[in-house]
Amino acid sequence: MQILSFRLLRFNNIGLDMRILVISDIHANLTAFKQVLSDAEGEWDYVWCLGDVVGYGPDPNECVELLQTMPHLCLAGNHDWAALGRLDIRTFNPDARRAVEWTQETLKPENIEFLEALPVTFVIGNYTLVHASPREPVWEYILEPLVAALNFPHFETPYCFVGHTHQPVIYEQVSTNGDTRAREPRYREAHKMNGQRQIINPGSIGQPRDQNPDAAYGILDTETGVFEHRRIPYDIADVQSRMRDYGLPDRLVTRLEHGW
Ligand code: ZN
Repeated sequence: MQILSFRLLRFNNIGLDMRILVISDIHANLTAFKQVLSDAEGEWDYVWCLGDVVGYGPDPNECVELLQTMPHLCLAGNHDWAALGRLDIRTFNPDARRAVEWTQETLKPENIEFLEALPVTFVIGNYTLVHASPREPVWEYILEPLVAALNFPHFETPYCFVGHTHQPVIYEQVSTNGDTRAREPRYREAHKMNGQRQIINPGSIGQPRDQNPDAAYGILDTETGVFEHRRIPYDIADVQSRMRDYGLPDRLVTRLEHGW
């Protein structure tokens, strides 16, 4: 607890020059979350979590509680809201609905309180943070450059971090008339924030959807302006066996090993 206070104090007093662990869409997958923390150990000072801490996976309480042990900012995602009963889940497919209901039954009251307090947008220094998109912070999927282009007018900072699609990518505005291109992630290579406006997705820790089942995350150094995408394999069978024990839908169990 003392370490946490010290880090928060330093964050306030010395400003933004620090190394950020950028994570999103943990989706109650404690095995993947722990693997990411161990892979990135000693390389960050603060966590930015872009939402969907819960939903789909078997460890909603454990993931919320682990996140709270670290100095962090966390945004609200659509699955966090679904767990709070803020959404009409009749529009969800049956598997997702079953997982939401299980999550609602399983979450402890204090962890529901944590989710209830999450903001939908956060602006800090040069960075805007949202779960989904700047213009629809809980809902919109940015899956192509055209949609990214339409979002640049909706935030004021040079850079924006989003999650939600579970696909790591960097959208970069390449001209003043709004032309935008998508850059594929180059894992463990420094990506220099070059002054061009960018929307960056670190990918998903707990349920990747880009045909690569490895957990995804990023590290941002705000002092040097360097971002790095990363992937790390984790013990998928371990989380799958807990999902089966809890009777979570087969399709949700299977998709983890395929990354879709
Ligand atoms: Zn998600």
